[in-house]
Amino acid sequence: MYRYVFGPVISRRFGLSLGIDLSPDKKSCNFDCLYCELERAKPANRIELEPDPEDIVKELSDWLSKNSYPDVITITANGEPTLYSRLEELIERVNTIKGSSKTLILSSGSMIGNVNVRGALKKFDIVKLSLDAADQKTFEKIDRPLKGIEVEKLIESMVSFRREYRGTLVLEVLVVANVNDREEVIQKVVEACRRIQPDRVDISTVDRPPAYRVKPVSNQRLYNLSKLFEGLNVNVAVRKDGGDVTKIHLDKDDIIHTFKNRAYTYSDIEHLFDECTKRSISQLLSEGILMEISVGNLNFVKAKSLTS
Ligand code: SF4
Repeated sequence: MYRYVFGPVISRRFGLSLGIDLSPDKKSCNFDCLYCELERAKPANRIELEPDPEDIVKELSDWLSKNSYPDVITITANGEPTLYSRLEELIERVNTIKGSSKTLILSSGSMIGNVNVRGALKKFDIVKLSLDAADQKTFEKIDRPLKGIEVEKLIESMVSFRREYRGTLVLEVLVVANVNDREEVIQKVVEACRRIQPDRVDISTVDRPPAYRVKPVSNQRLYNLSKLFEGLNVNVAVRKDGGDVTKIHLDKDDIIHTFKNRAYTYSDIEHLFDECTKRSISQLLSEGILMEISVGNLNFVKAKSLTS
């Protein structure tokens, strides 16, 4: 039985994902998010009982020798993986054995201001950082960070990181009802995203039992908020029980205009548009007027004149 390697799991956002947990014994995180799937815990700034990279790599090599390579090897933690002091050493070693898989890290972004952490992150193929709010008041309310963490400094560091990083940068925005779901709050996140210039923005809501008594927003609300992210590749993660979304009808000219402003995933197309619009989208794709692009193992459709 493995101690650090788990899965693989099918991730709608990243494909077949094999996980590596850097703190299997205890939650170690410098945030205490309202929506966390783990138990509530006082924020901490280190991982207790850090694993040896050697032990992790041994397990990973063993798994890879017995199975086909997953789409992504995902470094995560029972908490925040960038608190791991030997992250750079680990990713360098994982990169030597990853074969055709891409490396991915799921981070809150809380340590992005640390130059050593940024150095380690640059060695991943895909980096996912969270940005639930861009104003300090809402940030503290939803993410409940360790005292002294300022969201504006995190955003500035994300901007610098984007300039240095050649891989795929994904930002995740998790929307919680009555906490960060007002348009003014999300508009500030959009402005921060425009400064950071990620390759993709994933917008989602509470999906699994959260640490605190908070509620998800409806799928319709998520789609309405996603419209604010004009010009960015936005992926909306809908919930199965998140309510129906009003189907939209667009004629061909409107489709082209709309898809110039925003790229849509196939899942969003399925949820948002009526049958007639979906047929027109397929036709425009086959005529080459719309095109498909892949960002972090997720396919988007956008108007051809836009670059990816
Ligand atoms: S950053 Fe992630 S692990 Fe940490 S409290 Fe928030 S959701 Fe939980």
